[in-house]
Amino acid sequence: MNPLRRKKKYEVTYDPITGQDRILNLTEEELIHADDGSVDSMEVQRKYFLDCGCNASAAGKCYQCDSLSCQVHYGICCKCQKPICLECSIFVETDDQKIRYCKTCHETISRKQRFARIGRFLLSLLSEEENDE
Ligand SMILES: [Zn+2]
Ligand SMILES: [Zn+2]
Ligand SMILES: [Zn+2]
Repeated sequence: MNPLRRKKKYEVTYDPITGQDRILNLTEEELIHADDGSVDSMEVQRKYFLDCGCNASAAGKCYQCDSLSCQVHYGICCKCQKPICLECSIFVETDDQKIRYCKTCHETISRKQRFARIGRFLLSLLSEEENDE
């Protein structure tokens, strides 16, 4: 017998790699008419095998949070070469590509960039003084 009502509830998050919504959790609910005349409801919660929400086989484990990712979502920080999951990655867009950093390296880099900017500013002050002579 067909269920009286089907309900699906998806919990999703935006995925910067595929540009689509990624399913974190799926809840399915069915209302069925039981033989004894009562209306029963049945709920199934589907937990995906991998922490990235995919049912594919695991490609690697994140060094920061220990979660498992599939081939698509698993990545390596371009600076320290350690494996990271999607949640722990920060993507920096350059002209032609997306570079993946772990949070630690991204912090280090943005700090360095701030210092470099201050350095350039000080240098420009110095060279202006030289020009005045
Ligand atoms: Zn992680
Ligand atoms: Zn995945
Ligand atoms: Zn790193």
